[in-house]
Amino acid sequence: MKAAFVYTDAYMDYDYGPTHPLKVVRLKLTYELIKAYGLLSLPSVEFIQTRKASEEDVAIFHRRDYLAALRQASEGLSQGGLMPYGLGPGDNPIFKGVYDWSLWVTGATLQAGECVANGERQMAFNIAGGLHHAQPSRASGFCYMNDVVVGISKLIEQGKRVVYIDIDAHHGDGVQEAFYKTDRVLTISLHQSGYTLFPGTGREDEMGEGEGAGYSVNVPFPPMTDDKNYLWAFEEIVPPLVKGFSPDVVVTQLGVDTFYNDPLANLHLSIYGFEKVVQRIKDLAPRWIALGGGGYEISNVARAWTLVWAVMNEVDLPESVPESYQEMAGRLGIREKNLRGDPPPPSHGIEGSFRKEIERIVEYHHKNIFPKIIH
Ligand SMILES: [Zn+2]
Repeated sequence: MKAAFVYTDAYMDYDYGPTHPLKVVRLKLTYELIKAYGLLSLPSVEFIQTRKASEEDVAIFHRRDYLAALRQASEGLSQGGLMPYGLGPGDNPIFKGVYDWSLWVTGATLQAGECVANGERQMAFNIAGGLHHAQPSRASGFCYMNDVVVGISKLIEQGKRVVYIDIDAHHGDGVQEAFYKTDRVLTISLHQSGYTLFPGTGREDEMGEGEGAGYSVNVPFPPMTDDKNYLWAFEEIVPPLVKGFSPDVVVTQLGVDTFYNDPLANLHLSIYGFEKVVQRIKDLAPRWIALGGGGYEISNVARAWTLVWAVMNEVDLPESVPESYQEMAGRLGIREKNLRGDPPPPSHGIEGSFRKEIERIVEYHHKNIFPKIIH
């Protein structure tokens, strides 16, 4: 068996709240669409039930006082004083069981990492993972525990060399900071420029420090960047750096809030462009741990991550979505007949305004990063 899918319906016990953009049900929808296409019963596939991470596991990155505060808040026992930890109304609400939710998500990333690192599987996918903003002692951007950092830290402990590729619309700041001073992890984040989007970081000149100088790579795109220009920059930067670094394992955060109709960001990608990027990552990754990420138009999430799983297993899917899924999704108000759907409206007419900026960033990396990584 080549690919492991890590999942549990226990995710559905948790809810960020009715007005919060992160809908946990998108995970259930993704699982159901993948199952409806028959992609969990392929001979190449192993289904792994998620187990929770332990507090010991997550303490590899998170501070104990933060974990204690999060646990108490999660159980409704908090005495206040949570603002310094980033917890409270807004982006990172305290909902019932938020501590356990975070342990489930992190546990799945650890399981994905273990089965790939020990050679049992070539690839694994944790659709719940990719919570890349969480800090050692602070929740940020809907993320309470940084499953990515915990997972990669365990791989490093085992002596692995890791490339992390983050294609979420938002900069992967928590992961970059965690590995900013080491050359054991090459982090590459492609995102909407921090001048126009949370969390504000991820400039091209954030390149790492000390031994890590050159090992943090940022590609900040102007708003409205489309498939063609995104793919061009990806191709110019990512494959040469991955080959130059020669990792044991590639870890990816596959946020789909880059799509033109996502409500929280302003990039202009389509599911067609996303699929091409994922295919290129597969070509580059000897061993691959795929994680989810952002994505706030939930029908996009289910369809895009189903395509990820199809790419991993080298299956061509029919465009027509299985009827059993259509019925199930219809009950949630989602009418989806096609897997990829219509191409997005063109962003032509404004291309000239951002093309030059993207060329400038690519050139910057060719000059400043490439000599450090490619020998
Ligand atoms: Zn995002």
